[in-house]
Amino acid sequence: MSLPAPSSRDAHRPSWSFRLITIAGIPIRIHFTFLLFLAWVSASGSSKDSYALVTFVISIFVCVLLHELGHALVAKHHGVITRDITLYPIGGVAMLDNRPNPKQEFWISLAGPAVNLVLAVIIGAAIFVLESGFGRLLGDLQKASLLDALLIANLTLAIFNMIPAFPMDGGRVLRAALAQKLPEARATQIAGGIGQGLAILLGLAGVFTHGYILMLIAFFVFLGASQEVTSTVTRSFLHGHVVADAMLTNFQTIRTGDSLERAANMLLDGSQNDFPVMNGDEVLGILLKNSIVRGLAEEGPTTYVASRMQRDYKYTSREAPLELAFEMFPQADPSPILVMDNEKLVGMLTIENLSEFVMLEHAKSQNSLQHR
Ligand SMILES: [Zn+2]
Repeated sequence: MSLPAPSSRDAHRPSWSFRLITIAGIPIRIHFTFLLFLAWVSASGSSKDSYALVTFVISIFVCVLLHELGHALVAKHHGVITRDITLYPIGGVAMLDNRPNPKQEFWISLAGPAVNLVLAVIIGAAIFVLESGFGRLLGDLQKASLLDALLIANLTLAIFNMIPAFPMDGGRVLRAALAQKLPEARATQIAGGIGQGLAILLGLAGVFTHGYILMLIAFFVFLGASQEVTSTVTRSFLHGHVVADAMLTNFQTIRTGDSLERAANMLLDGSQNDFPVMNGDEVLGILLKNSIVRGLAEEGPTTYVASRMQRDYKYTSREAPLELAFEMFPQADPSPILVMDNEKLVGMLTIENLSEFVMLEHAKSQNSLQHR
């Protein structure tokens, strides 16, 4: 799987994972649940079985890693940087630093499954030579060797990932192909719709066969498809606009010497939640709603704003593309962005007014469709 990074800041660095090695300048990280999984595998079964099982699991993960490196190296060839690759028990994720265009996405997405197909051919040839044919593989599966199992695993990885539905690689290939003729948002909606339809079918199959793993996969496919659709549609409405088009120009500021009581009154008087903190014309920080509430509870209403403000605030310029500003709102940090012009505060961008902007653009696009 390959994903564009959800945010341009570092807030989304995968936690609970550690760096194992660096290959071609790309950090390879292992999620701790993968170690738990390995421990569970080695603990189950007799010591001879568990040794074979652990060898098998590690070999599979080398194949998954090669799949992700396939994405990453083709991305690098197209000038798209991979921030890191993280291995989870359910597979790997290559986090891309910027969004590839449809043509790049087509080749980047195809590269992962292609690696597994090439591995399958090489392993198949090895089996043919070492085991003189595929007799063992086609006969009793109980007697299958490590090579046999790896052949099946690589074929499964290639086929499963090429299912033409989001969030699988095949869905990205389909979206990229559709985006040659259609707008990207429409292409994503189609690929996402197919993904969700497939997830529902998978889920139903899981319910009827009592396959819990199948139900779990269906759940993640459904979630992945809808997230991708939402973020792409949002992005498509922001595309071509600058920060000045969406920013708030009518907003309140507060002075460093003001009390939290005054801040609380401003909070109650209007719809604004967070306030830029000023010393004359100079911005010193931002006072967030949470800090006002916590400050009142811990230190009382006479406390100065200065002691509760956040000194490192996010800022941008009026001419910055709105798409980039959108990426400055990771889920972990929805605090507003201040808009500066030559060190002077000229506006403010909140996640609420950004979503209002998207809603209005959406309404306008519906209207123009009806009048076509
Ligand atoms: Zn992939």
